[in-house]
Amino acid sequence: MITVTSPIEKQLKIISKEIEDVQDYPMGKLRDIIKEVGFECDFCARCCTREFNDHVFLLTADVIRIQEIASDYLEPAPYYELCDQHGRFYVSGYALKVKEDGSCIFLNERRCAIYEQRPIICRLYPYMLHREPDEDGNIDWRQIAGPGQHGCYHTEISDEESEDIALQIKSYETGYLKQVAEFFRKAEEYFKKNSLRHIQGVYDREMRKFNKGEEITVFVLFNGEFIEHRAKKQ
Ligand code: SF4
Repeated sequence: MITVTSPIEKQLKIISKEIEDVQDYPMGKLRDIIKEVGFECDFCARCCTREFNDHVFLLTADVIRIQEIASDYLEPAPYYELCDQHGRFYVSGYALKVKEDGSCIFLNERRCAIYEQRPIICRLYPYMLHREPDEDGNIDWRQIAGPGQHGCYHTEISDEESEDIALQIKSYETGYLKQVAEFFRKAEEYFKKNSLRHIQGVYDREMRKFNKGEEITVFVLFNGEFIEHRAKKQ
């Protein structure tokens, strides 16, 4: 008997493997890389702009915090995962809005207006685990922005600090992947219940319209529910 795997099931398998990979990533290696990179913020604020970072993806805990500060500063994260046959998009989370000049909505005179409550990813930057496999199928380390283009590098990082950053990286990456997995599980349920299906051709067509300035409908998964939004390219 041939078992047919749906695109969503395929995605769930990939994510579950990625979660294992992140959890298995050797702590010692991660600590060494953090110490070697030795990043220190020099308040240039470049990492808070689109020039260096495409968008600030928010985990659910971030969204709850930001909703209390300024709920209208949230928008559906870009790179929507699915599109149904009616041309409505679905995405696994929110991102922070940006101003016309491409800087984060919370950036004010090169300072973060919500520094103590900033999103988890802003606390960890530029330390990230790259989730795309290399030629041997292993997840690899990367920094989001090129060294030397912002901030200071090769500064002294203590053992305790590198351990703490390494733990936070693993926690963030796992949290992110679990959020995406939850999105695919809920989407599968929602699509079945409402006789919907993902169609790549419709996705591409609607994305072309969006890129030309047309408004689209995007459902964002938040707290187990799909929340409807209208979105327009900035
Ligand atoms: S929330 Fe703060 S730290 Fe994060 S990108 Fe915006 S201004 Fe920068």
